[in-house]
Amino acid sequence: MAARHDLATDPVLREGLLQARRGTAFFARKLNELTDAELDGGSLLPGWTRRHVVAHIGYNARAIARLVEWAATGVETPMYPSVEVRDHEISFGATLSPIALRNLFDHSAVHLSVEWRDLPDRDWANEVKTIQGRTVPATETVWMRTREVWIHAVDLANGATFADIPAPVLERLLQDITGAWHARGTDAGLVIRVTGTDLVLGDTGAQSTKSEDPVTVSGPLAGVAAWAAGRTPIAGAGVTASRGTEVLPDVPAAPKWI
Ligand code: ZN
Repeated sequence: MAARHDLATDPVLREGLLQARRGTAFFARKLNELTDAELDGGSLLPGWTRRHVVAHIGYNARAIARLVEWAATGVETPMYPSVEVRDHEISFGATLSPIALRNLFDHSAVHLSVEWRDLPDRDWANEVKTIQGRTVPATETVWMRTREVWIHAVDLANGATFADIPAPVLERLLQDITGAWHARGTDAGLVIRVTGTDLVLGDTGAQSTKSEDPVTVSGPLAGVAAWAAGRTPIAGAGVTASRGTEVLPDVPAAPKWI
């Protein structure tokens, strides 16, 4: 018998589950602050009302629960049959009544939480596949959900900002985003510095080339993470850009992330 890994008692996983739970509670709070009529209002995401955001978060919990079930049973159940089906589901969900939308969020979140709770320790290392086609251990589902609930709570556009997101979540998010840029090579000549920390990300190799200085985007963790996620209007977030010693008048738009 293979060595048993007590992942559910693993402090890193436990901390991850805690951040997912906190993020879900935070999303619930921001959602509950909104009246039914306000659900019709715009979100921070182009073309999406708040209804779309709530529907997406509800269906996302179901999709991630399918991955946890896959890890538990070994029966392949993808997040979504296709991106088209996912998008169609969100459009449909956005037309639900306010009470149905709120129930979708609540019930799907509880269901996912139960799936995680019931996943035996030995199954957390089992591999599943994300909608992007990445093969990941079931532990990754916790982070996938964590970033969704925190970021989309901000997208509800009723007062939450990236400064509400815990620093460890922001740091991992920034690592994810810059990692995705790096994999696509879209970070060429772009360095990201988080002020007040040692965190330097992006095309860090570019610093040593003499031909042209890289563009360095710097600012506090929350501001830089929001910028990297393509979320915040740059002004006011404390994010600045420079090339060598020259401060640029505008912060360039971040490369596409997802
Ligand atoms: Zn999302």
